[in-house]
Amino acid sequence: DKAMYYAKQNGSGQLSFYFDELQTDKKRVLLLDNELRKAIENDSFELHYQPKVSVETGAIIGVEALVRWHNEKLGFVSPGEFIPYAEDTGLIIPVSECIINRACQDCLKLEAQNVKNISIALNISSIHFHQSNFIESIRQILERNNCPARHFEIELTERTVMNSEKDTIRKLVLLKQMGFRLSIDDFGTGYSSLSYLVQFPLDYLKIDSSFIQHICSLNDKQAVVDAIIQMAHRLHMKVIAEGVEQRDQVQLLRKMGCDMIQGYYYSKPLPLNEYIEFLEFWELEQLEGK
Ligand code: C2E
Ligand code: MG
Ligand code: MG
Ligand code: MG
Repeated sequence: DKAMYYAKQNGSGQLSFYFDELQTDKKRVLLLDNELRKAIENDSFELHYQPKVSVETGAIIGVEALVRWHNEKLGFVSPGEFIPYAEDTGLIIPVSECIINRACQDCLKLEAQNVKNISIALNISSIHFHQSNFIESIRQILERNNCPARHFEIELTERTVMNSEKDTIRKLVLLKQMGFRLSIDDFGTGYSSLSYLVQFPLDYLKIDSSFIQHICSLNDKQAVVDAIIQMAHRLHMKVIAEGVEQRDQVQLLRKMGCDMIQGYYYSKPLPLNEYIEFLEFWELEQLEGK
């Protein structure tokens, strides 16, 4: 083919190296595609859970479910790699359904362990949300597992809801009526107007980690976070800070009136069993603290 031909013609090592890279990329994509289809078939995705801590009480008030995929041939594939690929190919719909189904199964395991006030936040891809049968598909998965919607929160990005179309509003209202809580994820990173904040029945804003990162040293970031918290509260929403790693960030966020904190400072996302252990440890710590 052409690239090979030119590479041979001018004998450029660089070009043939580039060509090899392309081939390797192509091979990886093919393999990814194949393995992703098998993973859907075999229900091979796992979820890890990252706790969200209430600033006021120090209690764990919920978790975010984050997908993890370990594949024999590809090794660990991050969601940052395979979710965008699945979105481009339409495979995101069955992947998302597997994830919601797994979250239901894990939810029942938490119930069986007598975990109170279960709240599992699911990241829902824009492609899935905008499918005409999204509401029906999520309703069916919950019903099949006998899992109530009140145990779940749905995280959508600004991009997903930015076109304040009737259909978007209709779906959000339906989800609320079903009992889901609604969050805007990565708030502040999308290119959207703020008008949707007034129109939609939202519960939480999750401030993107890029604002939290240098919050203690950069006044500008601090000003933005402060403004987001004030605005959210006036619109009757609660604020979750994500990507919190340091104690001084926690202290500053508390001073600013942030409601919940999520990040490595408290815990990485954990496999379900480790999360259950973490909960027990946390409750003991709290009892001792009081
Ligand atoms: P996100 O929803 O904004 O998730 C937050 C990401 O930040 C997660 O990365 C999490 O592991 C990471 N994180 C949490 N605390 C900290 C911290 O203190 N420091 C740092 N540096 N990172 C932290 P992860 O799991 O790799 O997920 C990346 C993105 O992939 C997610 O961003 C989300 O957009 C997407 N994703 C993950 N799971 C799912 C899923 O089940 N479905 C869909 N549709 N997307 C998912
Ligand atoms: Mg999220
Ligand atoms: Mg986020
Ligand atoms: Mg993010």
